[in-house]
Amino acid sequence: MFRSIGFGLLLVSVIVHSTRAEDAVVENVVFAIHGGIGLDKVEMTPEIDKRVRTELEQALRAGFAALNKPNATGLDAVEAAIRLMEDSPQFNAGRGAVFTHDGRNELDASIMEGKTLKAGSVAGVSTVKNPITAARAVMEKSKHVLLVSRGAEAFAAEKGLEIVDPKYFRTEERWQQLQKQLEEEKKRSQVRGQESGQETTGIPERHLPGFSFGTVGAVALDKSGNLSAGTSTGGMSNKRWGRVGDSPIIGAGTYADNEACAISATGHGEYFIRYCVAHDIVALMKYKSLPVNAAADEVIRKKLKAAGGEGGVICLDNKGRFYPSYNTEGMYRGCITRDGQVQVRIFEQ
Ligand code: ASP
Repeated sequence: MFRSIGFGLLLVSVIVHSTRAEDAVVENVVFAIHGGIGLDKVEMTPEIDKRVRTELEQALRAGFAALNKPNATGLDAVEAAIRLMEDSPQFNAGRGAVFTHDGRNELDASIMEGKTLKAGSVAGVSTVKNPITAARAVMEKSKHVLLVSRGAEAFAAEKGLEIVDPKYFRTEERWQQLQKQLEEEKKRSQVRGQESGQETTGIPERHLPGFSFGTVGAVALDKSGNLSAGTSTGGMSNKRWGRVGDSPIIGAGTYADNEACAISATGHGEYFIRYCVAHDIVALMKYKSLPVNAAADEVIRKKLKAAGGEGGVICLDNKGRFYPSYNTEGMYRGCITRDGQVQVRIFEQ
């Protein structure tokens, strides 16, 4: 009897889980964005909540307007929305990016076209005002996929992109965030010294003061049925030694394939790189015929969660089905349907 009760409970939980995931799928979506995992619920204030939602909606509408221009492609929408979020100090991309351990802002971005599987990325740039535009230029105006640091900056300047003083990216809030992290790091190393052999204070890095994920990304399905995806970030606060995360790595933080879906990720980049997250979701859809929500949950909520990798993705499939999957409390995100209906969410499903 216990066995059949157990089986019944299992069945109910499977149904509840899949119903939830199904519910969270939004149909007829042509454009969607994310603004990272963002703050935990306890850190959220009504002011930040309002600001984030307003800015997400503005970026969604900018992308939608770009998508509806004559002859526009999904790439135009992805670039337009991400540029807006890069220009806003609210997000960890462009102006308002997090600081490296050495007090610099080093930016990463990528873009991909699902029809041709063409892609472009830049990593570790400090003078390019809009890294997403530089990533697109790499895709369209060079024979390479990924350019880094000074070379990427020289390429951007050569192609006439806007170049700024590195100070342009600095915000006081992000600077204070780094100071908190440096203090915490000092405390942790003191504890390590006292309790020899102990690796950490026991607090997961994500929950240390000042730690947050605020990368931005966008996915689009244009009138010709082509998918596109893009991601832009300052990476992870307090990063060292020229560290590059998943955002500019095609297949990890960004992917688009017309045969499956377009994806942009946010979260602890080292895990997203090691688990080839974006491409893994596409592969599950292509080779196992999983629907977008099941494929995304399999990777984000199962594999990545079990490994300890925190984060999420937004996915838009080639039928216009939008699904965000995350293994954290929430994710800043929004989508817009073909007829202009906007939906913005943070903690709610
Ligand atoms: N994924 C980014 C990185 O690891 C960080 C983020 O999403 O906030 O660089």
